[in-house]
Parts: sequence; structure tokens; C-alpha cells
Amino acid sequence: MIFNCIVPSIVFQEVPNEISLCFSITGCKVGCNGCHSTELWHAKNGLALTNQNFIQWLKKYQGLISCVVFFGGEWQPSALIEKLLIAKNFGLKTCLYSGKESGDKHIDLRITQQLDFLKTGKWQPELGGLDSITTNQVFRDLTTGEKLNYLFTKNNIDTQGANNVAA
Ligand code: SF4
Repeated sequence: MIFNCIVPSIVFQEVPNEISLCFSITGCKVGCNGCHSTELWHAKNGLALTNQNFIQWLKKYQGLISCVVFFGGEWQPSALIEKLLIAKNFGLKTCLYSGKESGDKHIDLRITQQLDFLKTGKWQPELGGLDSITTNQVFRDLTTGEKLNYLFTKNNIDTQGANNVAA
């Protein structure tokens, strides 16, 4: 089973009010038109993200981060769920950015049960990302059910569009 990722990075805008370590998982099959991250389409790209490697990354950034965000990976539910459980054991919040639609038909319920935040919806350039008021994408706090898109559009107004997430 391949569960590879691009070298993770710290991100500040993908999850509002959290400092997140971001893991982009390769093997995305969503195929959005205008995808900015086509290097994520091929499952063999990147480095193997074993549970052991993942724990090493979390230990490296322990105390600096409050959340872990995955860009994709829902196509390997077992591997992703294992990582989410590990992150929660480190006291971190968890987030998934998926290009799929929301709902059990699209994203495994066992995954969403381990998430604090979930972004759903394909990248559609004509509608824009989370910072666009016309976007099809939804960012939700799963602990409350609240849709948090307004925090991204607010950022856009404040920063003149610095945040434009495609995944
Ligand atoms: S934008 Fe994201 S979800 Fe869509 S194809 Fe690219 S990597 Fe996959």
C-alpha cells in the first residue's frame, strides 16, 4: 500500500486560528480542471509516510503546532485514520482538505469521525477557492457543524487575496 507525501510544511492560513503541519498526500484521483498541484496526482511521487515517520515529524514540531492538516489521503482510509489517531494522541487538532463532496458517500465516515475540520469540494477556477464568496468549496468545523468560509473571505478582504488554496 502506497501512502506517500510531499515534504510537510508549516501553514498558517489553511485552518483558521491554528498553526498546522501540512501533509500533501500523493495519488489524488479527483482531477480538478486547473489543479495547481498536479505533482499530487501520481501515487509514487513523494516519500513514504509511515506511522513511524509521521510520529517523527510530530515530535520535531511538538509545541510549535496545534493542528495537522492533510491535503488528500482519503483514498487510503486505513492509513489516514491511523495518522489522525496518532495526531489526536499528540493533542493536536485534525483537518482534511478533500476535493470530494461532503457526505458519507464521498468521504468515509470513519475518517470524518477523527476530524475537527473538513474542507470539501473540487477546485473550480471560475468559482474560486475558500476566499471567494462564489466558491463551491465548504470549510466546516465538524465539532460544531459550523461553516467557517466567512473566515477565509474575511482574510481575503484583509490581505487582498493572499490566501488562494486549490487543493
Ligand atoms: S486541486 Fe486538489 S483535489 Fe483537485 S486534483 Fe488537484 S490535488 Fe486533487
